[in-house]
Amino acid sequence: MKTTERATTRRPRPGEARLEGQPVSSGVAIGYAAIAHDPALPPIDTTRRDCDPAHERARLFEAITRSTAQLRRLHDRLALLPEDGQVEIGSLLEVYRRMLGPSRLRRGIEALLGQGMLAEAAVQHETEALAAFMLSPPGRPAPEGEDAVAARRRAGEFREIGRRLVRNLSGTPYRSFSTIPDGAILVAEQLRPADAALIDPSRIAAVVTEEGGSTGHTAILLRALGIPAVLAVHGLLARVGRRTRLVVDGTTGRVIIRPSTRTAAAARVEVAAYARERQALGRLRRLPARLSSGEVLTLQANLEIPAELPMIAQSGAAGIGLLRSEFLFMNAETLPDEARQEALYRPLVEAMAGDPVTIRVVDWGSEKNSDALTQAGIGTGSDVNPALGLRGIRLLLRHRALLETQFAAILRAATAGPVRVLLPMVSSPAELHEAREIYARVGRRLRRKGVDIPDPLPPLGIMIETPAAALMADVLAQEAEFLAIGTNDLTMYTLAADRAATDVAGLYDPLHPAVLRLVRLAADAGLRQRRPVSLCGEMASDPLAVPLLVGLGVRSFSMHASAVPRVKRAVRAAAMDDCRRMACRALEAADGPEVSAMLMDYAATLHHAGDG
Ligand code: PEP
Ligand code: MG
Repeated sequence: MKTTERATTRRPRPGEARLEGQPVSSGVAIGYAAIAHDPALPPIDTTRRDCDPAHERARLFEAITRSTAQLRRLHDRLALLPEDGQVEIGSLLEVYRRMLGPSRLRRGIEALLGQGMLAEAAVQHETEALAAFMLSPPGRPAPEGEDAVAARRRAGEFREIGRRLVRNLSGTPYRSFSTIPDGAILVAEQLRPADAALIDPSRIAAVVTEEGGSTGHTAILLRALGIPAVLAVHGLLARVGRRTRLVVDGTTGRVIIRPSTRTAAAARVEVAAYARERQALGRLRRLPARLSSGEVLTLQANLEIPAELPMIAQSGAAGIGLLRSEFLFMNAETLPDEARQEALYRPLVEAMAGDPVTIRVVDWGSEKNSDALTQAGIGTGSDVNPALGLRGIRLLLRHRALLETQFAAILRAATAGPVRVLLPMVSSPAELHEAREIYARVGRRLRRKGVDIPDPLPPLGIMIETPAAALMADVLAQEAEFLAIGTNDLTMYTLAADRAATDVAGLYDPLHPAVLRLVRLAADAGLRQRRPVSLCGEMASDPLAVPLLVGLGVRSFSMHASAVPRVKRAVRAAAMDDCRRMACRALEAADGPEVSAMLMDYAATLHHAGDG
């Protein structure tokens, strides 16, 4: 992220400066900077080869013992952290503990000590070598995407344990946060996850660092602690000194240095509003998603990658309404087999502790691509328009082994908790029928082999994301055990506007009455055939749209976890009669903007009456 010293919208007073970094934990704070420097490590002589190996081994052993004790003390403090912080730092401490044990790292260090190296130099050399190996494994392409994030994290873990050992070898203390005044903004070059775990969120108003990124352990912990934080603010330490006044916006990533009186007053208003908002949303977590007229809805979360699990647990979602299994195939060179897939699904099902998980079999094709599938000869065809080509269930029925493997893995994992199986991109009853036959056959085969799977098999349902499926929903619902309306694709196919193309973005509108009429058809079909209907497109994350969708007959929604509290607040403020009235008007509206204006009018009349 580049440092930008931007012009303010108002003319900045002399002295006021703005920097930007990565927003990692939302919230606004205003306060004085407290700079936390780590006492510098003494220089390490890396040239020596004449040290006594026995002496250096004894020093290393003592440093390991001291590091292990420090990590144990940190572990003892875990109970003070919020639940997802405990999970995050607990597993990280376990990684460190294993590195200090009989690990590859230790073997490497001891080998270098055998060559007469100083213990500090050996530790530094070996941890750097392992970090470099993680970042670019020799003979293999450098990791990309999710793998690159994981590699950076792992490299950081090696470097961190190396620094801890060197600090203990040289007797250099760690910095302490205990002298930082209450309400200060902690400013540092970088913050280790172990440091973040020591922060008391009731004392520190915000965290800003010059280094770091949004996906590391530190960022995850700061989010778990609920401390507004901006990382990777280049040029920060050159401009900020002890007691420099700062405004930190962890939502936008902006850091204002020496705010003018007006800027500070505006920031104080935001701080108060944010505190009220958090309190209200926090209270909502345990409350039911009940309309003000009494009807109860189900709000669940979509899961795209397993790392989202802690956020889902914290959101108050009643299960996973859409597990997009594409992550299994992304960045993979080979197809994940039955055992690997089961090993990924099972912990997710277990983690939901009895709340249902709807696993969608892989929806490949259209704009998504996978090396693993391509290498296995599973092409999505060379259609001129891939969104209208071999995609979702169409692709899976051409490559049945892929579908059979995934069904089998899901059925095995389904003994861990309530699971439903979802078919993407269905456009005709024949596709559902064929898939159901395969599903039943896989179930019989597993039972014959003595594998423990649920009896009866978990419900098999379909996505309603083509106009054909919506129009045929009454017929499809005779065989589908549940319907999940995917408005992302339904909008694209109904309005003939690509969901990813910017030049038709103005035409792509899920509030278009044509889309809403199809949603209504699907909801009605589910009601008549007594099949559960949910809606899991992006639209479900929109607090304005959900009351309208309730009016159209949908009672269950699955959305991005972060949207659950806000949607719940909107639901608790809405009344069924109003929802139905809005639905009737929207179905008769001429276009999306007309519907949108109506929803905004309704929201304005409610004044967040459902906060309590
Ligand atoms: C949808 O189309 O609305 C949907 C939920 O599926 P995806 O976004 O994964 O295509
Ligand atoms: Mg879709």
